[in-house]
Amino acid sequence: MSYLEILKYPNAQLLEKSEVVKNIDGLLQKQIDKMFKTLYVSKGLGLAASQVGCLQSFFIYDLSTQKDEPNHGSGPIVILNPEIVETEGEEIADEGCLSIPGYFEKISRAYRVQLKGLDREGKEIRIEGEGLAARLFQHEIDHLSGVLMLSRLSPLKRDIFLRKYKKQKKNAETK
Ligand SMILES: [Zn+2]
Repeated sequence: MSYLEILKYPNAQLLEKSEVVKNIDGLLQKQIDKMFKTLYVSKGLGLAASQVGCLQSFFIYDLSTQKDEPNHGSGPIVILNPEIVETEGEEIADEGCLSIPGYFEKISRAYRVQLKGLDREGKEIRIEGEGLAARLFQHEIDHLSGVLMLSRLSPLKRDIFLRKYKKQKKNAETK
């Protein structure tokens, strides 16, 4: 089983909206398994289907290695058609994205989030996350709406990112 390619910024496909998952079939299960393999080899915590070019509304995550986090026991978990039903509080913390490798920035997110969706068998589930888990939920659901964490930055920080990015690209081209 091969790994999937994670689309990287500024790939325009990352800005596309995902569609509701309707067919919970063998193909979807295979896609989920491949995504977990890709997540682990990339050492990421969460991955939205749209990041691997599959415009279906679901994401996977695994926080079992995050021992200091409130939801460290959770994972591996798949949520199909996730929807945020409740949020509470606010937290500003570092955030990164497998589609923007090496970039981390402080972003404000709700501190506690309750999600509803379906598990990989199609059974209704509700999941609550705090801190990192809540941040991950919001980040992945943004991906499914075609929104990157860059859109959550202040205009000034976004400007700094874009300037750094252009410079890196230029350097890479002249090498
Ligand atoms: Zn991401």
